[in-house]
Amino acid sequence: MSCQATKGEIFHDPQSIARFASAAVAGGAAAIRANGPDDVSAIRGITRVPIIGIHKVRHHDGMVLITPTFESAKALVEAGANMVALDCTSRGQTSGALDRLHEIRHRLNVPVLADVAEIADVEVAVHAGADFVLSTLRGYTEETNHVQDFDPNFIRELVRASGVPVIAEGRIASPEQARQAVAAGAIAVVVGTAITRPSDIARSFSAAIESEFLRRNKVSEAVGIDLGGTQTKYGIVRSDGAVLFKSAVETPAKSGAQALLDNLKRVTEIATRYANNGGHKPVAVGVATAGWVDARTGRVAYATDNLPGWTGTRIGEELSAVSGLPVAVENDANALAVGEKHFGAARTFTDFVALTLGTGLGGGCYVGGTLNRGPHYIANQIGHVPFEPNGQPCSCGMRGCLEMYVNAAALIRYAGDSYRSAANVIAAANAGEKRADEAVRVLGRHLARGVATLIALLDPQALILGGGLTENNPILMSVLHEELPKFLRPWENRRLRILPSELGYHGGVLGAAALAFEHTFELTRSGQHHDESVV
Ligand SMILES: [Zn+2]
Repeated sequence: MSCQATKGEIFHDPQSIARFASAAVAGGAAAIRANGPDDVSAIRGITRVPIIGIHKVRHHDGMVLITPTFESAKALVEAGANMVALDCTSRGQTSGALDRLHEIRHRLNVPVLADVAEIADVEVAVHAGADFVLSTLRGYTEETNHVQDFDPNFIRELVRASGVPVIAEGRIASPEQARQAVAAGAIAVVVGTAITRPSDIARSFSAAIESEFLRRNKVSEAVGIDLGGTQTKYGIVRSDGAVLFKSAVETPAKSGAQALLDNLKRVTEIATRYANNGGHKPVAVGVATAGWVDARTGRVAYATDNLPGWTGTRIGEELSAVSGLPVAVENDANALAVGEKHFGAARTFTDFVALTLGTGLGGGCYVGGTLNRGPHYIANQIGHVPFEPNGQPCSCGMRGCLEMYVNAAALIRYAGDSYRSAANVIAAANAGEKRADEAVRVLGRHLARGVATLIALLDPQALILGGGLTENNPILMSVLHEELPKFLRPWENRRLRILPSELGYHGGVLGAAALAFEHTFELTRSGQHHDESVV
């Protein structure tokens, strides 16, 4: 181990250097390389291992020269050095290194080590009597300053050219490089800065940690598209959840797959153009769509007749081809759960159920921190949990699905069909109208009974409620708080939170953008997508 500290460094005193040497020997160092008689003497005082003495002196050309005089070599040996190294590069040779080498060897009777930079240095140094050749100065001379890293091939060439034992030194920063040096033929390896410069070591760690945080916290933008049966909402979302731009167009729902795809391409272009005008470049596109989606390939596995022809459409491929961006596609209910996880009420939860109550009843579940998709991408069909034997006919072809008892139509039905919309029922209930109030309570009781099944199965930390039926609806929330415990006996132990969604009207857009960010992160991690910001 090379134990040195230059002026101004915290450990620049012989006692500190000696302690470093002591630690090195305890760790298996076979010898110590040290600079100047004071350090050599201090080290000799604490260990018997061989010491390679050097003396770095500023030369008249302004640069440091290693052991430039016979006197400096003599002082090292008197201080306890067992051998002496000196600069035998072409520059060292012009300052008389070869004569000095000979003189040190014969008058001080110690082995002499030639610090070299090039193969050309070797032959003359060995001819002058060098006992060892060291690669120390490779990368530190005018001729070799293009070399920035340790290169085992140079060690191999030295071994071939020198005819004396070669010791590897210089920029050996890891145990693996030390191993490579030995494999290349070195009889010993000198390691210095990698061990003895705590500030450099600390800096390498702090830089690595900082760069990872920068990478992770780097604000980027994604296109989020929420393809609904009637409207396509879209926008530009920043990775911190801010919606920079939002808009909506009518969904050409009944016009077939090509029209739907063209619609997606058009809104992607508009959103991307907006981002570009602001000096941003979206990193990816996320699409939340009705229907079941193979999230791996971005293909619609199955869509109902709400979007005729949509089944089988390769949204991911098609949209990626025109936008030039990675595209993530997901079922809309799942996308909302991803949105809650990244930007909404579920940020701190690993296990939760996010429900959307509106025209239908949809939901997404996280289990153990991961979105539960199911092997066939049709998990989370919460709306179609059997609820009432031979009950209301459902859009899925079955009867009595939960959705038929907790959707907007059901709320109007409970209120005696005397309100035009579910929102009207909720407003009337909030105003104290008995019939509307009771309708909301009936719906709440049915919902509680339905989700009790989910809670019993999944043991979630939170139930997050969004969608039109939950907006401005404190009665529904209070009914859930009253009713759910009746179905869940170990209530106190569950710590189940019932929370309103935090995503709001653009929840689908936020969810789609969250998918896009997740997708980019996955691609970066798997090395398929090189993020130019990672430098
Ligand atoms: Zn159904």
